[in-house]
Amino acid sequence: MPINENMVQSIVQEVMAKMQIADAPTGKHGIFKDMNDAIEAAKKSQQIVKKMSMDQREKIITCIRKKIKDNAEVLARMGVEETGMGNVGDKILKHILVADKTPGTEDITTTAWTGDRGLTLVEMGPFGVIGAITPCTNPSETVLCNTMGMLAGGNTVVFNPHPAAVKTSIYAINLLNEASLENGGPDNIAVTVEKPTLETSNTMMKHKDIHLIVATGGPGVVTAVLSSGKRGIGAGAGNPPALVDETADIRKAAQDIVNGCTFDNNLPCIAEKEIVAVSSIVDELMHYLVSENDCYLASKEEQDKLTSVVLAGGKLNRKCVGRDAKTLLSMIGVQAPANIRCIVFEGPKEHPLITTELMMPILGVVRARDFDDAVEQAVWLEHGNRHSAHIHSKNIDNITKYAKAIDTAILVKNAPSYSALGFGGEGYATFTIASRTGEGLTSASTFTKRRRCVMVDNLCIR
Ligand code: NAD
Repeated sequence: MPINENMVQSIVQEVMAKMQIADAPTGKHGIFKDMNDAIEAAKKSQQIVKKMSMDQREKIITCIRKKIKDNAEVLARMGVEETGMGNVGDKILKHILVADKTPGTEDITTTAWTGDRGLTLVEMGPFGVIGAITPCTNPSETVLCNTMGMLAGGNTVVFNPHPAAVKTSIYAINLLNEASLENGGPDNIAVTVEKPTLETSNTMMKHKDIHLIVATGGPGVVTAVLSSGKRGIGAGAGNPPALVDETADIRKAAQDIVNGCTFDNNLPCIAEKEIVAVSSIVDELMHYLVSENDCYLASKEEQDKLTSVVLAGGKLNRKCVGRDAKTLLSMIGVQAPANIRCIVFEGPKEHPLITTELMMPILGVVRARDFDDAVEQAVWLEHGNRHSAHIHSKNIDNITKYAKAIDTAILVKNAPSYSALGFGGEGYATFTIASRTGEGLTSASTFTKRRRCVMVDNLCIR
């Protein structure tokens, strides 16, 4: 069932009503001054983790799930306060999603062949200590989700979080280590440094004991990791277009797109960043966006003012990222009504507010002559990231054509983008979508090595 704004609000209220705000973790588990010391500690704890049974790992993961739920509001508030981005209600939902839908040890499966010549297995074993670089847009969500998967695979992890979200990331790392200690595991299953910098990141990437690096962030960090000489998993930037054709339920498309676009003020990398619509339905779509979905139609003059604030000097203004629509409008002197959730306008695909990955609730609508033109413009707008794209259509041929042309890790049909993360859709959750390197939605098995174990002429009992 699609999630609408009322449902989101009622889930938030229910969660907040039930929730007891847990005390902040008192210890400083996993937090080091020096990156080399952090890696050394994670290496020692991995020696213990790799000997633990799957059942023991799962016990720790179960406790992590509980701690995330108990601390969802604290983490959400801390994330918004520290980064100034996103909103508390949606961040609570993101944490609950991580707790409920991040795969654990069940994701570590074995492939077997048996026959006259015996038994051959492919077992998935740990890399060891994994280096992970995390973004400020989903700081604790990524730290928690990464660690659950990495631990399920038998690894420990050293984080170099975004400096703008270090407090929130440290809080999450404390929780992870507390869960381990409370369940017979070692301290330092996840570690970091007090002051992460590009220098500590470089130290981590070059360290002899780090064999796998997982980067979640923009193009710069993914390129840095892929140039490190180590195995890298690169979860990079996107600019997801939502295509709407004439066969779509236009009213529902408008609602789904605004719900996806405004979730956590458009911070998720998978969220709708622009619309491409066939000409015959653009006016109807715009009508529903404005009259039923609390969108503010920006005039040409307001678009120009927004461009000069949001892309000041041609660069994305960090003070605008993850802000809500009303705040963005107030930055250009517009006092919008209280209900406004999103800013819309029609423009060409080259419009700077359309072509740039803004991560704020501004939705440009690009008019296309016909479906083929819409596909061409959407592919152009996705910039070859191969990350995420969405479509509203009831024509299976059109959906198939678009899917093949845009070739993204995620393609949501007739629903808000967040359905791709298992939120109102089937499937597991992750906050690391490895678009650049092709692993797609990462999970525990992504963080393992495949090993072939061969027994010749025995153990086949068929
Ligand atoms: P960012 O690229 O500014 O920072 C991400 C992380 O990389 C931070 O820890 C930062 O300190 C580090 N970093 C940046 N440049 C680096 C370099 N040259 N060497 C080493 N480390 C470096 O991104 P952000 O603003 O924190 O997050 C938003 C971006 O991340 C968006 O582009 C978004 O699409 C992307 N993102 C992608 C995914 C995904 O799963 N694919 C998930 C979340 C965010």
